[in-house]
Amino acid sequence: MASLSKSPLVQPGRVRVLKEGKKMPLGQGMGPVVYWMFRDQRVNDNWALMHAVDEANKANVPVAVAFNLFDRFLGARARQLGFMLRGLRQLQQELEATLQIPFFLFQGEAEETIPNFVEECRATLLVTDFSPLREIRRIKEEICKRVGNSASVHEVDAHNVVPVWVASQKLEYSAKTIRGKINKLLPEFLIDFPPQPCPSKTWEPTNHVIDWDTIIEDVLRKGSEVPEVKWCEPGEHAAMDVLMGTKNGFLTKRLKTYSTDRNNPLKPRGLSGLSPYLHFGKISAQRCALEARKLRTLSPQAVDSFLEELIVRRELADNYCFYQPQYGTLQGAWEWARKTLMDHALDKREHIYTKEQLEKAQTADLLWNASQLEMVHHGKMHGFMRMYWAKKILEWTTGPEEALSIAIYLNDKYEIDGRDPNGYVGCMWSICGVHDQGWQERPIFGKIRYMNYAGCKRKFDVDGYISYVKKLVGETKKRKAEKMLDEASKALPQ
Ligand SMILES: Cc1cc2nc3c(=O)[nH]c(=O)nc-3n(C[C@H](O)[C@H](O)[C@H](O)COP(=O)(O)OP(=O)(O)OC[C@H]3O[C@@H](n4cnc5c(N)ncnc54)[C@H](O)[C@@H]3O)c2cc1C
Repeated sequence: MASLSKSPLVQPGRVRVLKEGKKMPLGQGMGPVVYWMFRDQRVNDNWALMHAVDEANKANVPVAVAFNLFDRFLGARARQLGFMLRGLRQLQQELEATLQIPFFLFQGEAEETIPNFVEECRATLLVTDFSPLREIRRIKEEICKRVGNSASVHEVDAHNVVPVWVASQKLEYSAKTIRGKINKLLPEFLIDFPPQPCPSKTWEPTNHVIDWDTIIEDVLRKGSEVPEVKWCEPGEHAAMDVLMGTKNGFLTKRLKTYSTDRNNPLKPRGLSGLSPYLHFGKISAQRCALEARKLRTLSPQAVDSFLEELIVRRELADNYCFYQPQYGTLQGAWEWARKTLMDHALDKREHIYTKEQLEKAQTADLLWNASQLEMVHHGKMHGFMRMYWAKKILEWTTGPEEALSIAIYLNDKYEIDGRDPNGYVGCMWSICGVHDQGWQERPIFGKIRYMNYAGCKRKFDVDGYISYVKKLVGETKKRKAEKMLDEASKALPQ
C-alpha cells in the first residue's frame, strides 16, 4: 500500500505521499487504514475520507477515523472548541450510522496519540487531510518518523478546490499571479463528487465510548473567557443549511445582493456567513463552488464575486502559509513592505494603546471600538471592518511587529473562524501589504494601503453600524445574565 494505487477514486494530484511504507503484497498481513482527521471535519464531500476508504477497499481491510483534541490548539477557547466538538459529536453518529466507520477521539499531542494508535491497530496506511499551518506540518513530520516502517502516510488536500501544491509550486505574489493558474485547473478539479464509497470490510466492534458531555463541559469551563455564540449552529447539516437552506440559505435566498451588499457592515447577511464552517471543514469549498456555479446565469456578478473570494482569495491564503514559513511575522512580508514599514517605525503616533486597551475596546475611535466589540461578543467581525480594524492597530501601536502580533492574538482568540490561513493573511495584508501593492507614502503606514474613518463614512452609515453593534452586545449580555441566573437558581437547594 506504499505508493498510490492505480485507477484511484481521488485524483492523484490531490494526494501526496509523505512517507512510503515497506512494500507488502496486496492484502497480505495488512493492517487497517486510519484517517487522522484534522482540518476537514465532515463525512460528505471529503476527498481524504474517500481516499482512505478507497485504499482500504482495495486492500480489503477496514478503516477508522481518528481525531486528536489538542489542549487549546493556537489558543482556542470555548467559542471555537464548543462549535468544533458539537459538530464532531454529530459527525461520529453519521460516520458510524451511514458508513459503519468507527470514530476514535484522542486527547493530548497528536505526534504521540496518532502513531500510538497506528501501532496499536497495526495500520499500514495513515491518511491525513492537508493544512498549511506550521504546527501541523511539524506534527506530520514527527508522525512520519514515529510510525513503524511498514506504515505509509498519505496527505490529501480536501480543503482546496485546486490542491495547493498543484495550483502553484511557489509563493505567489498576489491574486493576479495565482488567478490564471487556478482558473486553468478548474476544469480538472472543480468536478462533481463521486458517491462516498462504503468500506467493504468493517472494523471489529470496539468498546470505545466517547463521553462527549464531559469533554465538552471541560473545554467550555477551561475556555469560558471567550464563550460560545448562539447564532452559529454547529455541524455539517447546519453548514449546508447556511449554503442552501430554504429559509435563509446564502445561495437560495441571499446570493443576489452579494455583489452590492458584501462591503456594508450594516448588512452582515449580505455575506455568505460560511467562514466558520469552511474553517473547520464542516463544508467543502468545492461543494459551495459547484452549487454557486449552477446559479451563474441568474446572478453572474454575485457568483463571480463569491467564487473569487471562495476560491482565488482563500486558496491564495493557503499558498502563502504553505510557501512562506515566516507567515504571521514581519519577516514574512515582501522586502518593499518591510523597508517602508521600518522607515516609518519611529513616526509619531497620535495615540498609542496597549494590548489590554485594544482588547477592551478603549480607544477614542467609536467605529473601531464597535468592530472590536462585534468580534468579542458576536464572534464574527464583518469582513470590511476587519481591514479597518487591523490597519488601525498598526497606527496605534509602537511598530509593525507589535501591531501584527496583537492583531493575530485578538483575531485568533475571538473570531469563531480564527486560527486560519485567511486570518494570518488578512492581518498580513492589512499591516504588511502582503498580496497588495505599494500606495502613496504617508506617515506610519509608509507605502502600505491606508484606511480612515472618513473613508468608512463615505462608504456606509458609520453611526448605524455603531448602534447595530451596541444592540448586538446588549442582547448577548442579556442572554448571558439570564443564563447565569438560571444556573444559579438550579444550584439552589430545591
Ligand atoms: C484582518 C483580517 C482578518 C481576517 N481573519 C479571518 C479569519 O480569521 N478567518 C477567515 O476565514 N477569514 C478571515 N479574514 C478574511 C475575510 O474577512 C473573512 O473570510 C470573511 O469576512 C468571512 O465571512 P464570510 O464567510 O461571510 O465571507 P464571504 O464574503 O461570504 O466569503 C466566502 C468565503 O470566501 C473566503 N474569503 C472571503 N474573503 C476572503 C479574504 N479576504 N481572504 C481569503 N478568503 C476570503 C472565506 O473562506 C469566506 O468564508 C480576515 C480578513 C482580514 C482583513
